[in-house]
Amino acid sequence: MSNYKLGLNYAKQQDQLDELSLYRAQFHIPKDPDGNELIYLCGNSLGLQPKSTKSYIDQELEDWANLGVEGHTEAKKPWLPYHEFLTEATAKLVGAKPIEVVTMNSLTANLHFMMASFYQPTKERYKILIESDAFPSDKYAVESQLRHHGFDDKEGLILWKPRKDEELLRYDDLESILKKHGNEIALIMIGGVNYYTGQFFDFKRITDLGHNYGCKVGFDCAHGAGNVNLDLHNSGADFAVWCTYKYMNSGPGSLSGCFVHERHAYNQNLNRFTGWWSHNKATRFNMRREFDVIPGAEGWQLSNPPILSMAAIRASLDMFNEVGLEKLIEKSKNLTGYLEFLLKQLGEDTIRIITPENPDERGCQLSIQVLKADKSLHHKLTVAGVISDWREPDVIRCAPVPLYNSFEDVYNMIDKLKAILNE
Ligand SMILES: *Cc1c(COP(=O)(O)O)cnc(C)c1O
Repeated sequence: MSNYKLGLNYAKQQDQLDELSLYRAQFHIPKDPDGNELIYLCGNSLGLQPKSTKSYIDQELEDWANLGVEGHTEAKKPWLPYHEFLTEATAKLVGAKPIEVVTMNSLTANLHFMMASFYQPTKERYKILIESDAFPSDKYAVESQLRHHGFDDKEGLILWKPRKDEELLRYDDLESILKKHGNEIALIMIGGVNYYTGQFFDFKRITDLGHNYGCKVGFDCAHGAGNVNLDLHNSGADFAVWCTYKYMNSGPGSLSGCFVHERHAYNQNLNRFTGWWSHNKATRFNMRREFDVIPGAEGWQLSNPPILSMAAIRASLDMFNEVGLEKLIEKSKNLTGYLEFLLKQLGEDTIRIITPENPDERGCQLSIQVLKADKSLHHKLTVAGVISDWREPDVIRCAPVPLYNSFEDVYNMIDKLKAILNE
């Protein structure tokens, strides 16, 4: 897709040709105090609110008001099996089988619960490999797991690092690490789409490599779910976790998704933390029975879940289901390619794009290094009505989200950036 053109008219034309352009109207777009729509390019951090979310939540408030505890069985969407209403659409979105996914807890909590099962260190094999620029919460989580099992959190952590003067990670380097340390590594835990660079990793390649050396492999897909084709089942990964408040548009702090590969679905011997929601549904309320774990990912649930948060996830999943991941990704590549095209017009001595150039190795986010810039640039962009995300020392992260961003958004963002740079 290299026939992009300059000019606002081209952007408007592309929006007219865009099959998904109608979805923008189904979201609340944040506005400035004068009522003008902001250019919101921060869906990688917090996705916008679908207008339908309110009615999904209102339904549950109404059922709670009218039914009280009876809502567990009598609500329009009964609360006892409520998480099951999310299963099919979630599985589809992340490329999994229904038995492999569940929505529960928050993201970092799920990461720990997965490590309780899939990080089983021994004296010889106890190290954890992560990418050197992992999201801080993930790094803290794996370090605390090392300490929890009595290991040194520096010595036990192996970092997959970019080469000198590079940002992206190379698979050759991962292979070299595994050749050298493969039999000491218990777990490989990678951020599936790196939050900083936007690099989308080859899950199957990493998983095959890890499994060859006897390591367990898991992915944090916070920046992947609803953004790229994760194809989790076919990747063979042991587990994956993600949040629903970034690209999945389900509200601040909303629940997390969790994937456990089918090959572990019936393994009763896996160590895990359990609660009454991991117990066989048929006998859960007998209360005095021996623990009887549910097969599949549901067997990792602990508590009865927050229905209001799940209602927001249902609203969003219904929209994803209607659009379909294929169309979404097609537009995403087109829109992000357009952002890349316009950025390149600014010249190599002004900006450098850190994110991979290959559209199959990224989602919608581009991480843009603005040479000789500092945080005042980000402030000026914000004042000009562009909501983006700044990372020290000089990187702007922009995520044109295919469900609600337009070509015109991208055009206007670049127009404003250009004006600021020319000041
Ligand atoms: C957003 C994000 C988190 C945030 O974790 P919470 O437990 O939801 O606060 C963690 N890890 C990654 C990779 C993220 O992108």
